[in-house]
Amino acid sequence: MKSICLLGSTGSIGLSTLDVLRLNQDRYSVVALTANKNIERLLEQCIEFKPAYAVVVDQDLAEVFNKKIEQSEAADTTVLSGIDALEFVAQLPEVDIVVAAIVGAAGLLSTLTAAKAGKRLLLANKESLVVSGDLLMSAVKEGGATLLPLDSEHNALFQCMPDGYQTGQRAKGVRKLILTASGGPFLDLGLAELESVTVEQACAHPNWSMGRKISVDSATMMNKGLEVIEASYLFDMPADLIDVLVHPQSIIHSMIDYVDGSVLAQLGNPDMRTPIAHALAWPQRHESGVSPLDFMLNKQLSFEQPSFDKFPCLRLAFEALNMKGTAPAVLNAANEVAVEAFLNKKIRFIDISKLIEKVINNSTIKSADSIDSVLQADKETRMLSNQYLESF
Ligand code: NAD
Ligand code: MG
Repeated sequence: MKSICLLGSTGSIGLSTLDVLRLNQDRYSVVALTANKNIERLLEQCIEFKPAYAVVVDQDLAEVFNKKIEQSEAADTTVLSGIDALEFVAQLPEVDIVVAAIVGAAGLLSTLTAAKAGKRLLLANKESLVVSGDLLMSAVKEGGATLLPLDSEHNALFQCMPDGYQTGQRAKGVRKLILTASGGPFLDLGLAELESVTVEQACAHPNWSMGRKISVDSATMMNKGLEVIEASYLFDMPADLIDVLVHPQSIIHSMIDYVDGSVLAQLGNPDMRTPIAHALAWPQRHESGVSPLDFMLNKQLSFEQPSFDKFPCLRLAFEALNMKGTAPAVLNAANEVAVEAFLNKKIRFIDISKLIEKVINNSTIKSADSIDSVLQADKETRMLSNQYLESF
């Protein structure tokens, strides 16, 4: 029996993870579940999975939640609140596996804590790796943690790596990583049409059902940009050895081009329960609940080049990766502010990349040698981004 701490249990990845756990109840027990604000959903999850701890980050809501849980079938669950509580549950000695499924840089410290505590760390929270790449990879090494990617592309790449491969290593014989991208809901729109797209259209992804922030990131292709940075740290590959290939069907989740001409790919229906089940069970396999891939229903697999003109966020991410230091942290923080502003209908879709570019051009990129330096860059960038927002 392995015990799980699920950070961000009320989100899209959180729900998919609980689906996989439900199918494999004899293998896993849940020690901790966490939410930011969605206490109704968290309560249902506590009643079903009976964790020892439930964290509600929002202090006021935690008090409301505590009263509800005391009168429920999950009365034995201890309720904690605040950001420190996320770190507390991520390092509990009785926890074997930490699933990092919080969205945004808000997941950074709890992810780092799990790495330092030597857990099996299942990483969905790509922003934490983007913001603190080298620091997180060092924490994994020093803490003796096992870092397994949940992001479907990176999980695919991991599955295509040579036997015995561990994240953080540079695999021998790899010529290039090929990250596939669906292209999002606006792949076939022209530049002019992008000016008037709505929040609802941006959040309606053709292949994947996801949280709102990553849905917008997919529509701008910033998601792929963040994933290029994520891949660079996870697999120790420079930006020029990572290609992005648009593959609108999302059946091939990514590929490795080896020096002997072999290209290894991982395929499957677009459903996050596959990478989640893979990383939970690794190096073994167990059920995920995902239906088998039907090739007769997927006869056309097509590929195209991504357009940097239509999707400037992708270019900005490559540039930030090449700049190194705090540049990826600045890119990420500016993007979080811009996406939030777009979701709140304060700026247009096409303003997202404009705001990020303006912020990067007006930021001083420093060395990212300590957690304080990246947290400082994150904080300053949010202030600058909010200031520039006024001019849009
Ligand atoms: P979501 O918005 O559906 O859920 C986010 C979770 O984080 C919720 O449980 C929420 O309560 C929690 N949260 C939000 N803000 C918080 C804060 N300030 N402090 C603590 N907790 C907070 O997001 P999601 O789609 O599940 O994505 C989660 C992460 O996984 C993101 O980093 C995303 O990029 C990554 N990811 C998601 C998918 C997907 O299919 N949804 C695929 C690949 C990677
Ligand atoms: Mg992905």
